[in-house]
Amino acid sequence: MTVSNTLKYTPIEAIEDAHATTRKTFMSKKTRPVEYRKTQLRKLNELLSENIPALCQAVNADLSKHPQETTMFEIMALQQHAMEAVELLDEWVKGEEPEAPAPFFTGKRMAIRHEPLGNVLIIAPWNYPLRLTLSPLIGAIAAGCTAVVKPSEVSANTSRVLADLIPKYLDNDAYKIVNGGIPESTKLLELKWDKILYTGNGHVGRIIMTAAAKHLTPVILELGGKSPVIVTKNADIKTAALRITHGKFLNNGQTCIAPDYLLVEKSIKDELIAEIKKKVVENWGENPKESSSYSRVVNHHHWKRVTSLLDRSKGKVLHGNDRDEESLYLAPTIVDLPSAEDSLMEDELFAPILPVVTFENLDETIDLINSKDTPLALYIFTDDEKESNLVLESTRSGGTCVNDVVVHIIPTNLPFGGVGESGMGAYQGKDSFLAFSHRRSTFYNTSDRYIMDDVRTLPYPDPEQAT
Ligand code: NAD
Repeated sequence: MTVSNTLKYTPIEAIEDAHATTRKTFMSKKTRPVEYRKTQLRKLNELLSENIPALCQAVNADLSKHPQETTMFEIMALQQHAMEAVELLDEWVKGEEPEAPAPFFTGKRMAIRHEPLGNVLIIAPWNYPLRLTLSPLIGAIAAGCTAVVKPSEVSANTSRVLADLIPKYLDNDAYKIVNGGIPESTKLLELKWDKILYTGNGHVGRIIMTAAAKHLTPVILELGGKSPVIVTKNADIKTAALRITHGKFLNNGQTCIAPDYLLVEKSIKDELIAEIKKKVVENWGENPKESSSYSRVVNHHHWKRVTSLLDRSKGKVLHGNDRDEESLYLAPTIVDLPSAEDSLMEDELFAPILPVVTFENLDETIDLINSKDTPLALYIFTDDEKESNLVLESTRSGGTCVNDVVVHIIPTNLPFGGVGESGMGAYQGKDSFLAFSHRRSTFYNTSDRYIMDDVRTLPYPDPEQAT
């Protein structure tokens, strides 16, 4: 991991200009034509395809992420999002033509027009710094909005590369990038936007929503949470181990929909843990510190936070726990918890630590999950549909997989978003387009003589005669 040039923050005075320029461009109707939107989406696709090495290098400098992982989970996904929007945009912009209800509206034309919401703000976090900055932007461009994006200052290398590339590829009057930390975000939040999409933690989510309320600006909040994974005795253990191990330790556990903690049925616990350990060694070797496929904790603040959680835990370490602060290394770590009352069960871990809680009865897991904030994801491994149905019917979460983890983010026709403490609103695919669109109800009346006009002819009769 080499940290290159420091990130140049946008001067506070320039932030108002960025907002004014993008707003003026929106009002000029430049971003409305479908062909313009498609051109910008194609340019975004070019930005990605022509700069794969630079983008992978930047993400690697921020997170020690393997280029293949960045290419697969960020760049290729974004290219698919952009080009799918190009392909389907004509269909999406058509809007809806609901049937006019009889008798008063018979023969009349009604429409729900899909119109751009306006000038929008996108604030992104550091853990998938390309995807979480650019995927919402794809929705905003597709919808015909103008936008300012604020990547995370924590992933400074990627934010710097984006600051170089976005003005080179996209229409600089319509899409701008602002870089910085809290003062820059605070300035952005003072301004009036037509929508804000924020991805990050719930504490800042509340700051965003409070600032947005002053302008009655709608928000989408993509937050996190403690996403459980349940494995019952009716699961295929090898399959569960393979999928949980990858989903948990991918990006060093810094994935918003990573399984946060494991709830395992007592009778299969030893077998499942043995399989997960085996998979860890297969994926990252006996010493993951030497593996180029193993990422790092993002910075010293987070390294201290996660290692101190481990130090306070009452659990027994079953695997891992090797550390090196200088290189921000923490090995894939599995901890057996004597009970669910533990430092590792307080907040979202966002770390390569898998706490294990043992259960004997599925109802115990449901009670535990429901005693916590609603998670962004919930996973259950079982071949017994009664079990998966019971869990689905008895809990809430942003998204779910049965017999898998994380992959529900891939199909663009599944909306991605949280509920309760894990967020509000959703995007991806057509949902991204709709997230930045207004469904404008429109009634067309082409008749001079119309039955409703009788009702509008006043005065009303004498009330005594009318009743
Ligand atoms: P972060 O620290 O990068 O913060 C996110 C953004 O908020 C940054 O751009 C940052 O500059 C801005 N910010 C920070 N403090 C602010 C303030 N006081 N006012 C205004 N803006 C401010 O990222 P993070 O919050 O550490 O991200 C990790 C969290 O994000 C985890 O909880 C994770 O689960 C969640 N997350 C959610 C999703 C999702 O899609 N739901 C995706 C990724 C991460």
